[in-house]
Amino acid sequence: MVYDLIIIGSGPAGFAAGVYAGRAKLNTLLLEKEFAGGQVINTYEVANYPGLPELSGAELAMKLQEHAAMFGVVPTLNEVVDLELDGKIKKVITTTQIYETKAVLIATGARWKQLGVKGEEKLRGRGVSYCATCDGAFFNGKVTAVVGGGDTAVEDAIFLSRYAKKVYLIHRRDKLRATKILQEALFEIDNVEVLWDTQVQEIYGNSKVEGIQLINTKTNETQPLEVDGVFVAIGTDPNSNLVKGKVAMDEQEYIIANENCETSIPGVYAAGDVRQKLLKQIVTATADGATAVYAIERYIIENWK
Ligand code: NAP
Repeated sequence: MVYDLIIIGSGPAGFAAGVYAGRAKLNTLLLEKEFAGGQVINTYEVANYPGLPELSGAELAMKLQEHAAMFGVVPTLNEVVDLELDGKIKKVITTTQIYETKAVLIATGARWKQLGVKGEEKLRGRGVSYCATCDGAFFNGKVTAVVGGGDTAVEDAIFLSRYAKKVYLIHRRDKLRATKILQEALFEIDNVEVLWDTQVQEIYGNSKVEGIQLINTKTNETQPLEVDGVFVAIGTDPNSNLVKGKVAMDEQEYIIANENCETSIPGVYAAGDVRQKLLKQIVTATADGATAVYAIERYIIENWK
């Protein structure tokens, strides 16, 4: 059997594509390698998805999943290990099967960036975390540090302040990148202190995090800081390995696709955080999913009469 569309990844982009593909009656397979929902399930409160304020990331992911299921698109757990994209019929190779399809939508999202400092890898899961909403509760009454200055770091610091005795937000510049409304909320919290112009040089500890070594980027002064946990929130890298060397990408390996989500290969589309774009949020991911499927419908009509 040849599918009309195989969607790889079941985050907001993949589920939105599922809703549109199901409604368009495309014969669709949605593949997911781990768990449905994507990164959004780690967001405590999604305050900026229009029309649905106050939902948690997990609730929104569940609603998206249910919506796609209403139109018959449910995730199949199967890891894609390779893709053959050159022919008119594309091959999607998983650990157990080879699927054939007329079109492929890459909606594999992004993953947390690592700091790359000494101790980070060794103490991962022992006080080093990339997900405050997953691990924050373990730090009740403790001292934590959040590294980064974007929306994620500020949201994480706000979230952790509800559990931790003290939260240090460590940012390498003297201005936060996060949206103003989050900054205002942050600056009102008594147990959060921002360490400006500061980088983490090392995370130390024997069997768990005991502290971090800091350097001031303006004065080059170094100082140790005792903390029980370090939350790294310095942005994301795209999950684009599957198509590396196959479709056009930018230097950070985000897939380059046009506003119809078409990549450099006909029949291959990219949606959500894996795609190069200005604003990587849930609302733009779901919009991508919808646009991509609309473009895919037209591609199939034009090429498969
Ligand atoms: P981001 O906006 O790319 O910010 C990354 C932050 O980490 C920046 O402040 C950056 O510093 C810093 N950084 C990067 N590399 C670093 C390094 N090696 N060492 C120290 N600091 C480093 O990432 P994000 O906050 O994860 O957000 C990603 C996207 O998701 C954004 O579009 C954001 O708006 C969106 N998001 C939205 C929400 C929401 O709306 N509720 C929540 C979370 C994320 P510089 O500022 O100096 O570059």
